[in-house]
Amino acid sequence: MKIAMLSSEVVPFAKTGGLADVAGALPKFLSRAGADVRVITPLYRETKKKDLPLRPVSEAIGIDWLGKNDRFTVFEHREDGVTFLFVERDEYFDRDFLYGTPQGDYPDNGERFAFFSKAALETLKSTGFRPDVVHAHDWQSAVTLAFLKFAYDQDPFFAHTRSLLTIHNLAYQGLFDPELLGLIGLPERLLSMEDMEFYGKVSFLKAGILYATAVNTVSPRYSQEIQTPEFGCRLDGLLRRRSASVHGILNGVDYAGWSPATDKFLARPFDPTYIDGKKECKKDVLQVFSLDAGKDDAPLIGMVSRLAGQKGFDILCEALDGIFETGARLVILGTGEEVYHKALTAAREKYPRSFGLKIAFDEAVSHKIYAGCDMFLIPSRYEPCGLTQMYALKYGTIPVVRATGGLEDTVQEYSSAAMTGNGFKFSEYSAAALLGALRKAVSTYRMPVRWRALIQTAMACDFSWDRSAREYIRLYQKLSSF
Ligand code: ADP
Repeated sequence: MKIAMLSSEVVPFAKTGGLADVAGALPKFLSRAGADVRVITPLYRETKKKDLPLRPVSEAIGIDWLGKNDRFTVFEHREDGVTFLFVERDEYFDRDFLYGTPQGDYPDNGERFAFFSKAALETLKSTGFRPDVVHAHDWQSAVTLAFLKFAYDQDPFFAHTRSLLTIHNLAYQGLFDPELLGLIGLPERLLSMEDMEFYGKVSFLKAGILYATAVNTVSPRYSQEIQTPEFGCRLDGLLRRRSASVHGILNGVDYAGWSPATDKFLARPFDPTYIDGKKECKKDVLQVFSLDAGKDDAPLIGMVSRLAGQKGFDILCEALDGIFETGARLVILGTGEEVYHKALTAAREKYPRSFGLKIAFDEAVSHKIYAGCDMFLIPSRYEPCGLTQMYALKYGTIPVVRATGGLEDTVQEYSSAAMTGNGFKFSEYSAAALLGALRKAVSTYRMPVRWRALIQTAMACDFSWDRSAREYIRLYQKLSSF
């Protein structure tokens, strides 16, 4: 089975969120299961700085771009049995950020990722890698499926190629001005309701949903939710029409990088037979956030998150007084929208002894939070899968989450009577409901024997990629048989 995986971010080369984790780990596990995988991704400034031993795969590759014959170079890097191919185009990708600055998206994102998507297909041809399945992720590579259907439809090279679009977040759709279609070389007739038009714009994600052989989301629950008006972001009608081809496969965790026993970022490694190591990690994280490490019996709540509306920061800000009244302390690591930078910075000034804040993207600090906190809070409005609750569980940090999407699929409510469950959940999207769940968690924390048992249960949860990779292979096989 030959798989061409296209992703706009891949761990360890460039990352803004969960997509990068998935695109870094899934190919490795597919390859272990016997698939031949090429991962294609842009060569960003961030990636160049890593000084990888990159080598150009061939002479510059020709591409028909913006009405001209053009050329670009692709670099190769092999790791864990997977070949990663980096599309170089400095004018598009040699920038400080992947998609935009904190003030907003780069205005030429449509052109940038259309180029990436088309260049990926040219790379496959040029390297002679004829894929059984082109597997595109999110809007940034979804437009590949429009190129396959309308620009390469007569090309015998792709005659037997099927395609899969994975939606990591339906709210990010890649909407651009209609003129873009002609500019990037797609037929202008696609600007119709039956094709890529979306409320006067051209939509890359809609192209993927329409033209992929099948579509999947990153949790079973989210695959159902997006077919409803509440979560469907105005694409629910289309998704309902494609319902038979919409699947849900839960993301996994690459425990090679996410295990408290081997994690190089921790002050003290620990495992289920030595949970006390977690105490050292708690001291360490308190220090990192300049909080008084002497008071380490107070429960410590952690968050690692993009600061975006989706992630529930409005109800969190409303709940802060109540959270600190329980005696708990809170540390947050995140970057994103300026409105939340400001609100959280103001809160930090109000609660200097209980609230630690870092507005940054910092891999090391994120690991310290997963390990050193007692609870991990995710109050998302919606959550396609959510990786952070799965990481937290492995580090014995008990998730307190809103029951939506992948959070609903992976967290089971703790019952002290039955001694079952691995976390605490709330359903209503409100500060009051958040506080209700958090108070339950805090009162359980005050019963050390029960809390310890809950930590053991959490650490035993297994979301390894092996199972999900097998599900992807079954889906690829099904697509190839069409
Ligand atoms: P999303 O993809 O919606 O951002 P996920 O839960 O699927 O949410 O994945 C988030 C990933 O990004 C996790 O690996 C998390 O640790 C990481 N992450 C988010 N914000 C930060 C940050 N500020 N610093 C370091 N890692 C972060």
